[in-house]
Amino acid sequence: MRLAKRVQALSPSPTLAITAKAKELRAHGHDVIGLGAGEPDFNTPEHIIAAAERAMRAGHTKYTAAAGIPELRKAIAEKLRADNGLTYTPDQVTVTVGAKHALYNIFQVLVDPGDEVIIPTPYWVSYPEQVKLAEGVPVFVEGKEENGFKITPEQLEAAITDRTRAVILNSPSNPTGAVYTRDELAALAEVCVRRDIWIISDEIYEKLIYDGEHVSIASLGPEVYARTITVNGVSKPYSMTGWRIGYAAGPREVIRAMNDLSSHSTSNPTTPAQYAALEAITGPQDALEEMKRAFRQRRDWLIPALNAIPGITCQWPAGAFYAFANVREACEAGGFADADAWAEALLEEEKVAVVPGTGFGCPHHIRISYATSLEALQEAVARIRRFVERHS
Ligand code: PLP
Repeated sequence: MRLAKRVQALSPSPTLAITAKAKELRAHGHDVIGLGAGEPDFNTPEHIIAAAERAMRAGHTKYTAAAGIPELRKAIAEKLRADNGLTYTPDQVTVTVGAKHALYNIFQVLVDPGDEVIIPTPYWVSYPEQVKLAEGVPVFVEGKEENGFKITPEQLEAAITDRTRAVILNSPSNPTGAVYTRDELAALAEVCVRRDIWIISDEIYEKLIYDGEHVSIASLGPEVYARTITVNGVSKPYSMTGWRIGYAAGPREVIRAMNDLSSHSTSNPTTPAQYAALEAITGPQDALEEMKRAFRQRRDWLIPALNAIPGITCQWPAGAFYAFANVREACEAGGFADADAWAEALLEEEKVAVVPGTGFGCPHHIRISYATSLEALQEAVARIRRFVERHS
């Protein structure tokens, strides 16, 4: 069968193979601990579910504007003002089917064939694939581990060519949890303004920061504001991954083009889910605070425990809910070529599923999600230690 070239070039999700294997082992009765999840282990707060139910009973079950319901766009604009110091009118906001869809539309709207998009590594798995779907060229810049997995302005500058269209920033980061400081963002912004490139700022983990503060790069001045598209959503802060509501805010022309694109593909994000998102953003925030406390407690236990295992080192993630551990020495000691082989053997022998870093651009790291119970993490770390000791 001949499929279009654009899908032939797509890489399948790197988490898929390990997840499929974990499922298979579970189906055979094995006690598998899954540390691969990219979503909170809490249910959506009750008041949000109730808002969706109310909306459906009130007849909000029909199409909406492609950009989303006006109440939600207004609430998002207000949130961006209050939390992020950003002034947007509702027509500068588009509601999308998750932040992933916002990012997809942005690349479709900004990137022409052959245009380059700078992606710092380690990166979230979908960025390069989405750039390729827009016929763009991903250009990787290494966020060095010794620099907390962050890129420097010098590195950014060196990667820019006359084909560069945009850079994508993700703070806090999936997979590393790294959070850029205000000064670091200002230095990157200066380069982008001077070299005239777009900034796509994926701020989906904004609310999950344990050390430091979140800064929206678009808030750092009018010139950077004019060339930034800020992306966010309700999936991670409100445990709403399945509701599929994200959003983007930026220059009117870009947002209008994104709306036009949505109008011919998704039409609108699911209507009751938009009402649920409205409640999430405007309603009580206690559940978020509670979830954040649990994540912090798990992180504080997990990172020292990982570092105590010979051959594994792990930096402190300042945000999100992932530990990105360097397993190079453990791989070498055990004769594993890379983290893929290491993670596969770990799953096989100890029934612990972690995501190898290859898909994030780092073949000697693993990503461990701590969006799981402390008990499960403790058992998983004991198993990882046993595995490493057996292979050293
Ligand atoms: N951006 C990053 C960095 C993510 O980790 C994710 C989800 O894993 C997303 C965007 C997409 O989130 P959603 O489409 O659920 O809003």
